[in-house]
Amino acid sequence: VRKFFVGGNFKLNPASLAASTSLIEGLNKAELDPETEVVIAPPSIYLIPVKESVRKDVKVAAQNCYFKESGAFTGEISPKQLVDAGIPYVVLGHSERRTLFHETSALVATKTRAAIDAGLKVILCIGETLQEREADKTAEVCQSQLKEVVDVLKEADWSNIVIAYEPVWAIGTGKVATTAQAQQAHADVRSYIAKAVSPAVANNIQILYGGSVTAANSKELARQQDVDGFLVGGASLKPEFADIINARK
Ligand code: 13P
Repeated sequence: VRKFFVGGNFKLNPASLAASTSLIEGLNKAELDPETEVVIAPPSIYLIPVKESVRKDVKVAAQNCYFKESGAFTGEISPKQLVDAGIPYVVLGHSERRTLFHETSALVATKTRAAIDAGLKVILCIGETLQEREADKTAEVCQSQLKEVVDVLKEADWSNIVIAYEPVWAIGTGKVATTAQAQQAHADVRSYIAKAVSPAVANNIQILYGGSVTAANSKELARQQDVDGFLVGGASLKPEFADIINARK
């Protein structure tokens, strides 16, 4: 059975170290289901203080990294630096990286390869736009985003990948996918992985849903067969994040 996994993507929040510290203090006091794997992704400038102050059952992720180890790449962070700092996870391919920062699926795949080689675990984000959904292209878009990664990974590498299905139209909009829409997209991703990688990898890989997840809508989504957890944006900055972590309780 796949372990329930909840990620909190803080994005560019909060806007001060003091606010970050109080967010972590709140999470440290919450009662969390020990059956859920919890990973939080603070802004890079807070990675080390968060890692040092957060409870030990919560792991820390970077929100992005580059594919080079070091060198003349102003503004970037390397997978090796993350590992050296004791950060075990990185989020790659988030839709905000793809759209606002023009990251292609090929670049996301190169970064994924480099992150795995450095020893990181990757939360790999995929998902369609509203226009693509309306054109009935959801499965096709998810597959084409995944294919670039499939092409650069070996079967064994997939044990270090968590997939986050995040429909772009649901991110930060308050428009959550219906349970049927989420379940269908997740089942399609899993069957693509079965075909493109292996049935064993497909069976073991955690597929998270992301996009306007709240405490209120998380319970029903968490009951869907192929929904193995969530990647939470806005609600991960609020006390209700604990309720989302406990959605299966
Ligand atoms: P929201 O939960 O704010 O919609 O963001 C989802 C997301 O992008 C998580 O990576």
